[in-house]
Amino acid sequence: MPKKPLSAIELRQFEQGLKQMLRVVQGDLEVLAQETRQLPGDDVSAEDSGSEIVALEISFELLGQDERTAQQILDALSRIKGGTFGRCTACNDLVGKLRLRAMPHAAHCITCQRKHEAGEIE
Ligand SMILES: [Zn+2]
Repeated sequence: MPKKPLSAIELRQFEQGLKQMLRVVQGDLEVLAQETRQLPGDDVSAEDSGSEIVALEISFELLGQDERTAQQILDALSRIKGGTFGRCTACNDLVGKLRLRAMPHAAHCITCQRKHEAGEIE
């Protein structure tokens, strides 16, 4: 499947998902529960967008409450503001939506992530 840049709707969904993740890692679970209740049932209708709706598959249970993850989420939110979200911070290639759906705070594409884990790049 060819990689496509993210649409505005997708970006908004990732932004919402990231903000929820931030609540989880910062331990604001009560706020998160309130916000989740306040979300309108279907504020984006599938037919008018003409674009695929992203179903985020974030595993909130897997998120630990640690500062490093919080910082990664904050970085991702600032990439959304800066217009570079969805691109690898190392090689500038598109990260890939499947990876972003599970890990919206991922800064690297899978190739660079492996190099990163191997200690070859920052
Ligand atoms: Zn990369």
